[in-house]
Parts: sequence; structure tokens; C-alpha cells
Amino acid sequence: MDIDKIFKAYDIRGIYKKDFTKKDIEKIAKATATFLNAKKILVAMDARKSSPEIKKEVAKAITSLGYDVLDIGVCTTPMFSWAINDQNLKGGIMITASHNPEEYNGFKISAKKAEPIGKNSGLLKIKELAQKNNFKKSKNIGKITKKNLTEKYVNFLASHSEKLDFNIIADFSCGASSKIVKKLSKKLGFKLTSLCEMSETPKHEGNPAKDKNTKHIKEKMKQKEYDLGVAFDTDADRVFFFTKKGKKIDSSEIAAMISESFSGKQTFVGNATIGKIFEDTTKNNGHRYIKSKVGHVFVKQAMKKHNAVFGAESSGHFYFKDFFYADSAVFAMLKVLNIIKHSKKDLQSLIKKYDKYKRSGEINLKIKDKNLAIKKIQQTFKKGKVSKLDGVSIYFENFWINARASNTENLLRINIEAKDKNTLKKVQAKLKALNLT
Ligand SMILES: [Zn+2]
Repeated sequence: MDIDKIFKAYDIRGIYKKDFTKKDIEKIAKATATFLNAKKILVAMDARKSSPEIKKEVAKAITSLGYDVLDIGVCTTPMFSWAINDQNLKGGIMITASHNPEEYNGFKISAKKAEPIGKNSGLLKIKELAQKNNFKKSKNIGKITKKNLTEKYVNFLASHSEKLDFNIIADFSCGASSKIVKKLSKKLGFKLTSLCEMSETPKHEGNPAKDKNTKHIKEKMKQKEYDLGVAFDTDADRVFFFTKKGKKIDSSEIAAMISESFSGKQTFVGNATIGKIFEDTTKNNGHRYIKSKVGHVFVKQAMKKHNAVFGAESSGHFYFKDFFYADSAVFAMLKVLNIIKHSKKDLQSLIKKYDKYKRSGEINLKIKDKNLAIKKIQQTFKKGKVSKLDGVSIYFENFWINARASNTENLLRINIEAKDKNTLKKVQAKLKALNLT
């Protein structure tokens, strides 16, 4: 089978038994072990039905080359990142297809300190090794050790929070975050109503960035009052927050609010499409603000390079220096709850001051020639200040626009933010008149 198409920008992903087979798993696992060349390799998996079978193949392939495996069982992507750091390992493989539907599966690969391996940092090399499939046999078979680190992980998370007297509702998108947050609720004292727990049959797709997937939690929040609503994606590296009234809050507003909880002069990283309020707030407070390309690989790199304390993406990823520069949805949730606790207000009144811009939301267009479309947009808005950090961003006094080719899907993504509704409408109309196809 041609494995070329399952190698994406940041991970390996496809429909199991259609896009990749057991034989491919063996090749990919051997290639990863060879690339990482670590004595012991961390192996973890998400809660998908196909994950245990794939994990078995992965462990078998790795140990056949003489490397040892530390198997930590079912966990979230952030817990996987934490475990590489906690166990001081040089790398690992997480079996997950992030928020993709159940029939999908795949691999996220990390090196030491949980540095993500993407297209530009080794994933192409791994693909090449897998395609060649020429691995030298080892005389010794590696050892497989199993360890349950969940309790230790929960203690780590809890050590970054005060006791929390809240009533919250969370939609876990059937991911492993449910078992972690349940344990945390007992430890920290908050009341938890759970929707779509681990291994439940999915009621919606595991991607809370799309509104159709948050109908469930919104409905529940209409029926009863909670202090906070939280929707995780399936592997819990992304999260969206809802006010008491069930209103979904934009990631840029959450990022702006979190940034104000850091004292001293700090550095923050925002991706190329996150709302401007994050940048405005950090700069107003005298901090340094760095822009990064979209994608966790780039945000993590920028944070380490500039020694940033916190980073955020418009897609609900929140990164913390205290979380080994990785993104963690549960860590972000605890941060938000602690901020609410200290403010003695509710989230709705807290977030008001950050609600300054009107947004188009992500506009996704199926376009063959994305570069041509980007050029056309640039020509139409040629009077603005241009940045080519990721696709094109064009800044005007009262609005800005970004257009970029997605790394994960065959789409052109456009984001517009304006100071008022009227401007937003005008920009949208101009864009529509371009008839981009
Ligand atoms: Zn995810």
C-alpha cells in the first residue's frame, strides 16, 4: 500500500485497514524507532477501538529491532507529551487520529522533551525509511514494560491548581480526558457533569471547533445552570469554553484573559490566525508578542526559541511553558477556573472586556489553485500592510484578513476580523465578488 498519502504535515493519519494495514504499521514503527534511536520508546494510545491492536503491532515492531518499549496504555495527547518528559525518554509514538471519526487512526511522533516530529523535523525521513523497509535485524528482542501513570499525571495537574468550588459541565468527545478530569474533580473539589465520556458511542464528531459538534453541550447548558462549560476534542489537545448562558468564547479572548494572569514582563506566542485581542492585550500590558505559523510544531518551536510562557492558536490549542511548552486542554481549563476563582466574577463578565472584534469565523473554500487565490486577495486589498508569515495576512486600521492553504485539508482558509459589523460585511462582500474557485 502506498503510505505517502497518510503522512500529513504534523502526523500520520488515515482509515485503518483501508489507507494503511498491519504491514504498514510495522514499517512505520520500525522507521520511527530507527529515526529516534532511543534505548526506550514511549508507546501510548487513544481510546479508539482499533488502538489496542495497532499498539500491539507497534510494540512488536519496535522490540524486534532491539529497542525497549514503555507502554502507558490509554491516554490523551498532552499526557503523552508530559510522560516523555516525566520519564525522561528520548521519544515516543502516540497512536491517535486526533479528532477524526472512529474508523481513522494514526501516529503522532515526538522526540526528546516531547518535541513534535513534523514534515520539516523528521517525518519525511521516517516516511523514506518506512518506504525502503530495509531494517537491520537485531539479535536481542527489546523489553516491553507497562506502567500506569494516570495517578501521577493527575497529581501533576492538580499541583498547578487551587481547590475549586465550581459546578462545571464537560463534553469529552469520547476521549481519554474524561478519566483524567473525573479524577481531578474529586481531588480539587469541583462538581462535574460529563457528556460523551471515553469509549461511549460518539454523539457527534470530536472536533468542537465546528458549531454542529457543540449543540449537545449548549442544549444541556440551557436546561441547567453551570459555572462553566468545556468542550474537549477527542485527544484533548484542544478546548473551547462556554459561558453560563452557553455562549462559545473565541480562543483569542480566552488567550487574552489567560495572558493577564502572568506577572512580570513575559513573552507570548499567537498563531497567524488568532484574533487580535490577544496581541492587543499582551502589548498593552508591556509584554512581548511573537507571531507564529499555524500548527503546533511551529508554536512550540517559537515558544522555546523566545522563552515564551504561554501560546495560543485560534483552533483552541493553548500552550504552557509549565507544561513543557506543549498544549494541554485540561491544563488550560484549570488555568481558566483559577482565574475565575480569583476574580470573584463569572466568566461572562470577565470575558466582556476582550469582546472587541467582529469575526467572520473560519471560511473554508475548496480551491484548486490556492496560490492564485491568495494573489487575487492580495491584489484586492493591496493598500494594507502585508505579512507572508503564513499564507498572506493583510492589516488595515479597522480590519485584517488572513488567507492560507490548510496543512491538514485540501482547503483555502480565510479569517477576517473587523472593529465593527459594517466593516466586516463590506470586506466579506469584496471577497465574495472575487468569485474564488
Ligand atoms: Zn486534537
